[in-house]
Amino acid sequence: MSKNSFTVLGSSSGFPQAGRSSSGYLLKVGDRLSLIDCGGGVTSSFLRTGADPLKVDRIFISHTHSDHVCELSLFIQLIDLNGRTDRLDVYLPSEFVEIFRQYLYAVYLFPKRMPFELKLIAYEAGFEFDNDFSLKAYDTSHLKKYAEDIGGLDIPNKMQCHCFQIELAGKRLFYSADLGEFEDVTKYLNNNDYVIIETTHIDIEEFLSVSGKYNVGRYILTHLGSPAEVEQIRQAIRKSGLSNVSIAEDGLELPL
Ligand SMILES: [Zn+2]
Ligand SMILES: [Zn+2]
Repeated sequence: MSKNSFTVLGSSSGFPQAGRSSSGYLLKVGDRLSLIDCGGGVTSSFLRTGADPLKVDRIFISHTHSDHVCELSLFIQLIDLNGRTDRLDVYLPSEFVEIFRQYLYAVYLFPKRMPFELKLIAYEAGFEFDNDFSLKAYDTSHLKKYAEDIGGLDIPNKMQCHCFQIELAGKRLFYSADLGEFEDVTKYLNNNDYVIIETTHIDIEEFLSVSGKYNVGRYILTHLGSPAEVEQIRQAIRKSGLSNVSIAEDGLELPL
């Protein structure tokens, strides 16, 4: 692994696939790790990289769809069983913090029994993290379609979904998480070494026709469907002649 890197742990969409884990990404800065999203299969994908669970200091969750969060408790269990003693910071959309706190008891992960402090941190759009790398969270319209379903129900859902701008050592990486439409993120694309962009909620042909307008080193298309759908995207990229667009695979490591 490079000194600093971003590794795809899961490149599947919300429609689970046999050959890919659901959303998960590993940011390595020096010898410390941060996990971004934790969907189905991500814990095993993480272990396949050979990374040390005890080096994960932070977890950031973009939004609470199952394909981004369903293995969060299992990942915390992995860290717990490996005997962590340092604090673990878990950044969650604010709508989810209390629900997840209760859920930990439901799955018998009692914080009091853990040999480390588990800190659940609520964040919202506009949040800025600044330490050995920086991360800014922006809103996407991905979950707004649920407004009608939520109206009138006594539930805490605020339709929070966030994309992340990450910067470290002069390198910039943008992670779209899930979108309502491509326009959610066009204003953030410029001047990134990497743009990790989901393919489920955008028009691929439209994306390929405008992607060259932005100053982006390399686009990585992720959140992928069936092998047949991936093949269609592969052919569209080939037809476009674009050389800076590629398709994610689980285990793909991008040096930063
Ligand atoms: Zn998703
Ligand atoms: Zn989603």
